[in-house]
Amino acid sequence: MIWDCHIHIQPWAMLAEDVRPMIEDAAHAGVREILESPESVLRFLDENGVERACCINYVSPDVMGFTREVNDWVARFTRGHRDRLIATGSVNPRHEKDVRGEINRVLDLGVGLIKIHPPHQLFAPNAYRADLPQLAEVYRECQERGVPVMIHTGTSIFPRARNVYADPMPADDVAIDFPRLKIILAHVGRPLYGETAMFLARRHRNVFLDLSGIPPKALLRYVPRLADLGDKALWGTDWPSPGVVSIRKNIADFRSLSLGAEIEQKILWDNAVRVFSRAPV
Ligand SMILES: [Zn+2]
Repeated sequence: MIWDCHIHIQPWAMLAEDVRPMIEDAAHAGVREILESPESVLRFLDENGVERACCINYVSPDVMGFTREVNDWVARFTRGHRDRLIATGSVNPRHEKDVRGEINRVLDLGVGLIKIHPPHQLFAPNAYRADLPQLAEVYRECQERGVPVMIHTGTSIFPRARNVYADPMPADDVAIDFPRLKIILAHVGRPLYGETAMFLARRHRNVFLDLSGIPPKALLRYVPRLADLGDKALWGTDWPSPGVVSIRKNIADFRSLSLGAEIEQKILWDNAVRVFSRAPV
């Protein structure tokens, strides 16, 4: 069974106009139709051999165009399908007066994963130690409820993205200050910060790695110690981001690395079951 922890199932109409063509290119011709209904998404997952998927959404009015409405959208979209679709939402403290109220509202909607995207939300993951103290409310509430937080790490090529926030190291503070919070570092810091992301996953019991966005054939070049991190890595594709074309082919390419049946099983399914179980780390 395959659990893809990183697929962008998002409201197309809300995407900023200069971002849309970067996603709807020749390689992603049917993306708009797939995102139209949960039924078409489930059909698409079936075609690709994926059982469960985290439907990534986050509040990024500055870069991607998404407002807090994405939380309501993804909660509605996944309702009745939560056995397969994990609603992923976010609270952006730069655009939210009552962060505690909003994170509680979002989690009450049934959102099962919270995304932080520093280059698209324009704050560092540890900004609660500086000018965004309310950010701590997001981590605190997720820790209490056993909901994992995914932090994007690595650079972004979208217009207006601020890559000064691409470095995973500030997540070291989060792992220390919220020791029972399950933290997933998306993209293992690709392409510039792989060493840092791997260091954090080795150092902290509560830090995991999402392998999405890395071409699977190049995975061992980006994550050379993947075999040692077999209990810490989660499978993901980042479809339909630029360059991520076929979910099915990515899975086949991953299997062709011949890591062994046991570690493949952990990465493709078992580790995600553990991380999303709501049980403490
Ligand atoms: Zn992504």
